[in-house]
Amino acid sequence: MAPQKISPRVTVEIEHFGSNNSIIDCDGRLVLVDSPHCLSDARRWRAFAESLGDIAFIVNSDHHPDHTIGNYVMPGWIIGHSITRERLLTEPPSREYLIDLMQRLDPESVPDFEGEYRVRVPDICVHDHLELSINDVLVDLRYQRGHTRNNLLTYLPEDRVLFTGDIVCEAGLPSFQDSCIQDWFDALDVVEQYEFDYLVPGHGVVTDRDGVQRYRELGRAVVAEVSALLSRGATSEEVIARVRFEDNIHVATETCIGYSQEVIESFQTRSIERIVEDLHAEPELANR
Ligand SMILES: [Zn+2]
Repeated sequence: MAPQKISPRVTVEIEHFGSNNSIIDCDGRLVLVDSPHCLSDARRWRAFAESLGDIAFIVNSDHHPDHTIGNYVMPGWIIGHSITRERLLTEPPSREYLIDLMQRLDPESVPDFEGEYRVRVPDICVHDHLELSINDVLVDLRYQRGHTRNNLLTYLPEDRVLFTGDIVCEAGLPSFQDSCIQDWFDALDVVEQYEFDYLVPGHGVVTDRDGVQRYRELGRAVVAEVSALLSRGATSEEVIARVRFEDNIHVATETCIGYSQEVIESFQTRSIERIVEDLHAEPELANR
């Protein structure tokens, strides 16, 4: 663990395998943004947070396992978009998938998944906008379709810090199988309207406005590649088989073996499929 204090109230951990995890310290009452992917990290993260104060709320920026599995070991109230709750209840990753995945990522947590583990869904659901005022510190949560159709942006105006979840990833493109590409670009426009000095992305190092622009270019490049192939007459199947983007999010790190090649490949094909479908429906997307 290597928590970094980036502003008076905000501490960020970017070295967990999975999402970035943050703590907003509202004078001893804490708001956490996203839960660790691995339960071992989540337990250490909880202990670290509790050395700073009481965990009051945990915000899930989306429903994906790398942002929500750690909810299971956390105290406090979980906050998420209503679709995050619905998707965690109706289409949670199966126990077999999680046991298989955790045998790779976090073997010491496998007994949890074979036993008591259950998906912990948001207790408090946001439809559009929610303001938390905790010891008079304002934390502003806003619904924004983007990486998924159920993302939440978390904003701490006092420190000018914006937590985007996977709407912006500094590490590179995440899987966008749950995105609509129009929303993906619209969300970046919305992010740029916030007044912030620090942007805590879903994955990768803490960044700023330039990080949003670099991320936008990564998305544009893949969409342009797909669009060029389609306009040269390639079939959808050919494009899906051919176009790949660099995955820096699910691959091995110094401390973790990462997802299997097979799962990474399935994220890639489903992501490219998404772009192909959206471009067929709306060819102007190639100019975003
Ligand atoms: Zn993620």
